[in-house]
Amino acid sequence: MWSSLLQHANDAIFAIDLSGKILQCNSCVEKFYGYLPENIVGSQYIILLPEVRQKEFENIRDNLLFGEQSAPFETERVTQNKSLIKVSASYSAIRDNSGRIIGISVIERKVMHRKTLESKAQALLETAPDAMVIVNAYGQIILVNAQTEKLFGYAKNELLGQDVEMLIPDRFVSRHKGHRKNFFENAKARTMGEGQELFGRHKTGAEFPVEISLSPLETEEGLLVSAAIRDISQRKKAEEKFRNLLESAPDAIIIVNESGSIQLVNAQTEKMFGYNRVEMIGYNIELLMPVRYNSIHQVHRVNYFKNPKARKMGEGFDLHGRDKSGKEFPVEISLSPLETEDGLLVSAAVRDISEKKKLENQIKEININLEKKVHQRTEELETKNKELEQFAYVASHDLQEPLRTISSFVGFLKEEYYRKMDDIADSYLDYIFHAADRMQTLIKDLLDYSRIGRMRVLHEVDCNTVLSQVMADLSSAIEEANAKISVTEALPVVNGYPTEIKQLFQNLISNSIKFHRDNAPPVITISSQKIPGGWSFSFRDNGIGIEQQHQERIFIIFQRLHNRTQYEGSGIGLSHCKKIVELHGGKIWVESQLDKGSNFQFTISEKEKE
Ligand code: ADP
Repeated sequence: MWSSLLQHANDAIFAIDLSGKILQCNSCVEKFYGYLPENIVGSQYIILLPEVRQKEFENIRDNLLFGEQSAPFETERVTQNKSLIKVSASYSAIRDNSGRIIGISVIERKVMHRKTLESKAQALLETAPDAMVIVNAYGQIILVNAQTEKLFGYAKNELLGQDVEMLIPDRFVSRHKGHRKNFFENAKARTMGEGQELFGRHKTGAEFPVEISLSPLETEEGLLVSAAIRDISQRKKAEEKFRNLLESAPDAIIIVNESGSIQLVNAQTEKMFGYNRVEMIGYNIELLMPVRYNSIHQVHRVNYFKNPKARKMGEGFDLHGRDKSGKEFPVEISLSPLETEDGLLVSAAVRDISEKKKLENQIKEININLEKKVHQRTEELETKNKELEQFAYVASHDLQEPLRTISSFVGFLKEEYYRKMDDIADSYLDYIFHAADRMQTLIKDLLDYSRIGRMRVLHEVDCNTVLSQVMADLSSAIEEANAKISVTEALPVVNGYPTEIKQLFQNLISNSIKFHRDNAPPVITISSQKIPGGWSFSFRDNGIGIEQQHQERIFIIFQRLHNRTQYEGSGIGLSHCKKIVELHGGKIWVESQLDKGSNFQFTISEKEKE
């Protein structure tokens, strides 16, 4: 009865021995494949397998022999006239009375009715960006998409019905089988091998890193698992690049999460702080800083994560790192936010600036020494200057006496003997008389110069009053030259030495009158301006002007640009001016163009009253 049942079944049924030889089959085999049962019995079962599935029988037989089971799956068969037909094949073990496997039975059913549903599922799979592989509880591949073919290099029909382990490097296969069983026992959507590196194996044997998400699929045929496989070679490469960059950075780079836990460090960090990576990763960043910074740093960290942007840490403050031995060292730290899959992190580039600080301190010391030296030198110069002034004073003072004697006796000589000797003697007398006179003027000027500021006491000096006095003193010269003097705005009241300031104004104004251009009566404009720490003054005229090359020299004592027949004078006026201005902590200079006029300018600093 069993045999007639088998004969009339709608499925092709084979009994095959372990070597793959067909021992028995039913009449449906003729219907499906065109072979007469009596002809095919004794042949190898693989004659029904298409080229790409030649290993199907062997693989499933081995699995069954190792105690695994096989669920029905879709596959293909070749008919006698070489056409391919789709069947659902179900392999089972045939056992003898003692339970030993002595053969394999295969039941094959033509697949037709589920086609549309399947092609819908297939279409859905094709929309996925990842390689999708659907596997049954026995680890057989049930469905794949085109991405899978591309990623692993197999054609679809080389994959269907095969063990999914064909896509995994050999060294992971046995472990994978165990994991697969566990998944089916406790099926829920999750990523595979969390925290581990996973690899796929290409048809060529080449391996590549992957990320895999698993989800269970309840179907009529039982529980299946769908695996979405993503090639992460590019990402790994980018990570590798990032790591290389990190390691080659000259600074210690430390990546920290929002709670301050160290996520990543580079080799420089190990070197700088003396810890190795494992002693730092996962620990709080406060490990690497002096304990006194801890609480304030926590506050700063929280604030940084509220407003993360690339910037220096603790601008304007001295920062320190602390190494494993507890030793502190000065550092500079730049922070930048890092958006990652694990949330916002901050990367800190830490630079040891011990050397820089040392240099800075050395420079500071050198500067202090230099300042001391300059101070000392200035004091020395001041003393020397005073000595010189004293000398000039004494010399000119003492020279006056004999000169006066010479002058008076020349005067007597002139009174008594002029026109009583010959003409030559008279002219000699004239020369001596004039030279003595001129020498007296020079010595008087020199004496005046050395006297400037000798008895100085600071006073409030109203420059407007000073100017009026000077103009009154010079009234005849002003009238004679028809000079116009104007002040643009009221002049300030300054703290200074009244006599000297009067002399300064007088020298400048009388020079402007003296050095006027022919046919151009002098026009003098005086102005002043507040500047930081004092005042600046300008005395502008429309006179003969001074060539650029002489503009500095004219302030030196006895330096003149003209001879006395052209313009009267001894060349001491401007050197007086310079000395007076410097006495008031200022500077004097001239801007001028030949034949256009000159603008004498000077500054006076605000002195405290003595
Ligand atoms: P002195 O007036 O006795 O010659 P100063 O020291 O006052 O001596 O001036 C030096 C020289 O600077 C003058 O001889 C003159 O050539 C030039 N100088 C001074 N003031 C003026 C001015 N306002 N315009 C043109 N040249 C000037």
